[in-house]
Amino acid sequence: MSLDTLPGVRDMADAHGLLARKSLGQHFLYDLNVTRKITRLAGPLDGARVMEVGPGPGGLTRALLESGAEKVFAVETDERFLPLLEDINRASGGRLDVIHADALTVNPRDYLGDGPSAIVANLPYNVGTPLLTGWLTADPPPAPSMSLMFQKEVADRIAASPGGKDFGRLAVLAQSRCQVRLEMTIPARAFTPPPKIDSAVVRLDFLPESERFSDISALETVTKAAFTQRRKMLRKSLSTLGDAHKLLEMAEISPETRPETVSVQAFQRLAKVWRESISG
Ligand code: SAM
Repeated sequence: MSLDTLPGVRDMADAHGLLARKSLGQHFLYDLNVTRKITRLAGPLDGARVMEVGPGPGGLTRALLESGAEKVFAVETDERFLPLLEDINRASGGRLDVIHADALTVNPRDYLGDGPSAIVANLPYNVGTPLLTGWLTADPPPAPSMSLMFQKEVADRIAASPGGKDFGRLAVLAQSRCQVRLEMTIPARAFTPPPKIDSAVVRLDFLPESERFSDISALETVTKAAFTQRRKMLRKSLSTLGDAHKLLEMAEISPETRPETVSVQAFQRLAKVWRESISG
């Protein structure tokens, strides 16, 4: 059996008696046309090592294997899917390595190494944001690129530009580390069972080391102070960090500004001057 002669994704799930469990954030994509499109957005993957989180019944996994990936490492906590995934592994000529674990405990670099690689996943809702922040803050990055599906509202917050209600700590962190593109919205009806809201795929390409902001803890400190009270002007909200006027002057930010209009680069300047201010 080869990948193109496997039964459909839904048929395989039915044959293995697999029903979605809400507690594990299980909403499945049975349409290979959709998963192939996501795979194209994540590419090129020819010869690359790919990590997928939560393969479930394997719709995305199969598209990744078809794309010519050298190896797909798929981390799945629900053991009910392991026999079905083994069928896919056999059909792919042994290119699928299933890791039965909680993805929060897995370091992708242990599997992906230093060659061409990517993380591609339809992330479970309950662990999507912690997984993303872990990968964004890792040094060196887990892979050169990550193409990840989130609930639409989370995707909007990752890709947001200054000036809107979605712009906040997640956008500043993500865009300080990666070039971020909101690639495609996937309507709730594409999933089985359909979730309450639409999803969207975000592609994140890590910036070259010289452009990647590295003092993550300073960035987190200043964005937390600024956005915890997002209606307040920065001269007020940053007073918890010291002499707010001086910090803002040194970072070339107007004290009357509210956080949602401050650019990512200006937040990085603020993080730097705050770090200098406490280092003496
Ligand atoms: N990739 C499949 C698809 O697109 O049809 C399934 C996606 S479903 C939204 C999320 C998958 O992640 C489920 O298979 C679920 O069992 C798995 N999962 C949930 N929490 C996980 C965790 N902490 N680590 C690894 N997998 C997890």
